[in-house]
Amino acid sequence: MDYPGNLFVVSAPSGAGKSSLVKALRELDTRVQPSVSHTTRAPRGQEKHGREYFFASDQEFDAMVAANGFVEWANVHGRRYGTSKRAIEDRVGKGGDVILEIDFQGAMQVKKTFANAVLVFILPPSWEELRSRLERRGEDEPEVIETRLVNASDEMSQACNFDFVIINEVFEHALFDLKTIVHAQRLKYAAQRRARADTFESLHIP
Ligand code: GDP
Ligand code: ADP
Ligand code: 5GP
Repeated sequence: MDYPGNLFVVSAPSGAGKSSLVKALRELDTRVQPSVSHTTRAPRGQEKHGREYFFASDQEFDAMVAANGFVEWANVHGRRYGTSKRAIEDRVGKGGDVILEIDFQGAMQVKKTFANAVLVFILPPSWEELRSRLERRGEDEPEVIETRLVNASDEMSQACNFDFVIINEVFEHALFDLKTIVHAQRLKYAAQRRARADTFESLHIP
């Protein structure tokens, strides 16, 4: 499928800093819009329906799957998560940029539909640091943290299928790396030709 906007897909093992990095990117760059996923997991403390996620019952999620409403969905840590098709198509079709924070299974699915999607994998600097971030975040029960650490090994082995890898050691450096990837996409010929049509025309570039 061809479309004028950029679709960025960011994956990482839980606790690597994906949400913090994407949040910080969006504060710097309001042109990058998130797509709010649907999930069957329960909301955490401060999470609001329609902001972090659309929280859905199993039945509601089933109905969306049956209606072919997801570009991808996956079972992650025992819960289902999905990205609605419409949210992405509406925006990238109009030349906007969309960023998805989804697991690697979802990223692979998205790439099948949106071949130009830019896939970014975030790694922690070490196992010790990954564990301590999950513990410090204080959002998950100890057994949930253990599941997420066990799953992290399989997830990280998928990094080879991504276009870019960022190691989130010093947060500001990782954020700079993410900004650079986004910026580079906007400098591609086709994107510049569209965004700066007047300049191209005044330079007589067909
Ligand atoms: P809150 O939900 O608004 O309190 O946001 P966070 O506590 O997740 O982070 C606030 C801001 O600090 C984010 O926008 C990030 O830019 C940044 N941030 C998050 N984690 C780190 C970190 O470990 N180191 C640094 N230097 N900045 C961070
Ligand atoms: P994810 O979305 O990948 O599960 P989060 O963005 O929630 O991860 O980050 C997990 C925890 O690690 C959060 O408490 C966050 O503030 C912290 N964190 C993120 N990046 C860094 C970093 N570079 N150094 C130290 N702590 C970080
Ligand atoms: P959390 O419960 O910590 O918010 O997210 C758990 C995992 O689910 C993360 O790896 C996150 O990237 C993934 N995830 C969130 N939304 C989606 C989605 O729409 N699709 C898929 N495939 N994974 C998602």
